[in-house]
Amino acid sequence: MITRMRFLGLLLLSVPLLAGDLTTRFDLTYNRLLGGGPPRFDAAFVLADVQPQNTRRFTEFSGDLSGRYIGALALASQVRGVEIPQLDAVVSRLLRLQKPDGHFGDPLSTAGAVTDSDMAIMWGNGRLLIGLMEYYRFHPRPDVLAVARKIGDFLAGAAPLYNSEAVRQVYNGEKFAVGYICWTQNIEGLVALWRATRDDRYLALARSMADRTDRHPSQHSHGFLTSLRGILDLYRATGERKYLDQVAREWQSLMLSGNVMLQGAVPEMFAPSIERDEGCSEADWLRLSLELWRQTGDPKYLAQAQRTLFNEFSMNQFSTGDFGHHTLTANGIGPPFARAWWCCTMHGLRAFAAIFGSVMMERGGKLWLDLPVDGGGKAGGLAVRVESSLERDGSVKLIVTAADGEPHTIAVRKPEWASAVSATEFTRVWKKGDSVTVKYEMTTRAVVRRSKEQTEVAVLYGPWLLGVDMETSPTYFDEPSAENRVSLPAAGPITLQPARDGHFAHFRVRYLPGGYPMQPQYALLRPIAEYTRGPANNRVEWWLPVGREAAPGR
Ligand SMILES: [Zn+2]
Repeated sequence: MITRMRFLGLLLLSVPLLAGDLTTRFDLTYNRLLGGGPPRFDAAFVLADVQPQNTRRFTEFSGDLSGRYIGALALASQVRGVEIPQLDAVVSRLLRLQKPDGHFGDPLSTAGAVTDSDMAIMWGNGRLLIGLMEYYRFHPRPDVLAVARKIGDFLAGAAPLYNSEAVRQVYNGEKFAVGYICWTQNIEGLVALWRATRDDRYLALARSMADRTDRHPSQHSHGFLTSLRGILDLYRATGERKYLDQVAREWQSLMLSGNVMLQGAVPEMFAPSIERDEGCSEADWLRLSLELWRQTGDPKYLAQAQRTLFNEFSMNQFSTGDFGHHTLTANGIGPPFARAWWCCTMHGLRAFAAIFGSVMMERGGKLWLDLPVDGGGKAGGLAVRVESSLERDGSVKLIVTAADGEPHTIAVRKPEWASAVSATEFTRVWKKGDSVTVKYEMTTRAVVRRSKEQTEVAVLYGPWLLGVDMETSPTYFDEPSAENRVSLPAAGPITLQPARDGHFAHFRVRYLPGGYPMQPQYALLRPIAEYTRGPANNRVEWWLPVGREAAPGR
């Protein structure tokens, strides 16, 4: 039996894990959280930050990991359509650990003052509040709501001090992980609490935080983007246009700020402190862009969401299923890396529900396929499941899982990265089990980056940003690799040579090595998303030097 299991394990490892394979990616992180490790997410490990017991890293962010664990698994259980008994057990144990004043975790410092450790407590309790509310959506237990209300009341009690201009000024400085975002990220939990209770105090508190949300240099992007997601939810709750405008304005300003990178990443810390990515921030940016697309129908949001989904969000995932940090290098990413089990692994898993939920949407009486990844959607009496093989052959299959005998239209959105789709509409009286296939024609695009020293080209094929990596092209990284000259034109159309290694989106590219240009070599160009296959210390570069001589018109 063990031998057979091992054999199956080997088979699974040999399956290509590429950008579009959303179900495989979801399973990887889901299984890591429920059974993987180290570290293992058993109850003692999860609850250490609410007891509190300083038995693992970051327990001072009281309720942070436990809240994320609860929220991520609550959504994951919906994606899977299964109950998760160990989740229910953790929630039940957690409910008994609330302090009399309504907060969880470390004791607060003296009344009337705010310290860094108090901010860490505000952060953790905010993550716990939204986690509990996400659980409550699917398990409407009165005891869960009662505990969530007490967290809400604790935050309301803290509001006069934390909303003060003095506290805001101090914590909008160089505080990073314990910055003012620890306070404003509570918005989404408070809006969810208002939805469940209709107690207007929670909505008023969320509004007061929205008024105090802004972006500044060297800020923790995860906290800022989480605050924006809360404000977007405030718009959905109130219907007040000013909140949508605020989020749209901040999204656009971030796009123009130099903080959004080609691979669809935002850095852990905003400029000028760009050093690493962060799985949480990438998940936030993806979710925010998807939600703005749903709320506005403006295709720029969907285009950016796809850039992030197929590239940075996928690349950020490790072969263990964790999400985390990679060092941002001049041309791509490299070590050191960190599997951030304390936040990104769970926040990454939480994002999948939002992705699966954005694959299809009903608009204008049609069921639209917006994202060509695994998922599904419903419109009227029609339900459709989407099985994507985009990364294997550029197509997706739509399978009808429920039909009502009436005619319905399934429409296919042509993404910006495709030159054509094989069909844009199917109208018929559908029967359960009917299926249609849509094929996407990929375009190849070059992006050019020029500096005084050199010209570099990055190549996109369909939704995927292609890169050269140390694992499959080790000699490309021979010193001095910055002086390599890659044979790609810096202007005009790009034609790539297929690698003929059985992979749809693999290409080979000729280059002159910086150290021995007399002997041209070939490197493999493949989606940077494939970083997930490992090793974790792989280097991936997508800004490829083409040399000063490769000027336009050459
Ligand atoms: Zn994180």
